[in-house]
Amino acid sequence: MSEQQTHRCPSCGRELSWRGMCPQCEVQRRRQGREGWTPEQVQEKQRELLAHLDQLKEDAWDNDFWALLSCHNAITPELQRAALELELYYPCEIYYHAPEDVRDGLIRVLLETEQSMTASRLMCCLAMQGDDRSLEVLRELEEHPRPWREKLYVDPSVYAQIGGWTFDRAGNRRQLNFDTCYPLIKGDRKRDAAAQVFRPREDRCPHCKSKLVDVLTLDGRDQRLRFLGLDGIVTATCCPACVPWCEPAYSRFTLDGGSTAVLPYEMGMGYEISDEDVEQMAGNPYVLGERAVPVFYGAGFLGINEDSTVGGFASWIQDAQYYPCPNCGQTMKYLAQIKWENLDFMEGNLYIEICPHCQVVSMHHQQT
Ligand SMILES: [Zn+2]
Ligand SMILES: [Zn+2]
Repeated sequence: MSEQQTHRCPSCGRELSWRGMCPQCEVQRRRQGREGWTPEQVQEKQRELLAHLDQLKEDAWDNDFWALLSCHNAITPELQRAALELELYYPCEIYYHAPEDVRDGLIRVLLETEQSMTASRLMCCLAMQGDDRSLEVLRELEEHPRPWREKLYVDPSVYAQIGGWTFDRAGNRRQLNFDTCYPLIKGDRKRDAAAQVFRPREDRCPHCKSKLVDVLTLDGRDQRLRFLGLDGIVTATCCPACVPWCEPAYSRFTLDGGSTAVLPYEMGMGYEISDEDVEQMAGNPYVLGERAVPVFYGAGFLGINEDSTVGGFASWIQDAQYYPCPNCGQTMKYLAQIKWENLDFMEGNLYIEICPHCQVVSMHHQQT
């Protein structure tokens, strides 16, 4: 008879069934190593990437390309030109805000191709490039579809969402993300309340009786959160037990800190979460980071990044999903992502979107 031996993560103290670091701390450790690159090391990595750019394919998430992009915002026009030269259209993030000559090169290939797969990848690249000419071309392709469109699931305006924007039939641009990103990091919550994660409330879910929580509050008056353009507090409120089953859950906020969950949920399959468990998660140490980070800091694949973030790009576990505002019908704007693992709650991410005009937020869950 063997007894199950328990170990503890040397970094966070979490109980583990093996000796070593927990996955979250291991990812954190690797990220900190990459974030710590000196300017000379960044240049060296750029040179290496340029020399081996042809090897940059499907496994791009776990290499220096991703570190240069998400930790250092260091993908140069030189790298973008070389990628175009190599006909490298994946990962599309390499073309984020690429210069006009690169954009025109991408457009040329897109307008010539007859392959739906190539067209699909090039539309992602143009979405990342994202300027008005890219919009014009995608709109033209939406108005006058090419034969390859039949093999694709969605319109060019949905492809544009990959770059954090979209357009309407009249060609008006709508930005779907914020161009600033802050991580939620472990810190002293008594000293810094600009962002608060998982704050229990007194009201309860009518379906499962769990305590409702303000899963995220952001004080738009804090200097760091000025980019949200909100002169007050945003609060996202949900039932933590039921929210994984909602597509999505909504709540309404007022800038003075008020918030009301839109209840009852249409799909509530949640089991009750005990008040003790809610309190335990409420004791999490997360606060808003002191400094802004690159916009792709919170993007990428599961296992590469374990950070909850505000603004920038999300790390979609499934497809990117932008919901319409239940009030005005406009596509909502991606606001933040909470990694449930960081709260020791469950697997997956909670994505929070906002219609600032109607003061509505949506919350939806994704997992592998
Ligand atoms: Zn519930
Ligand atoms: Zn709205």
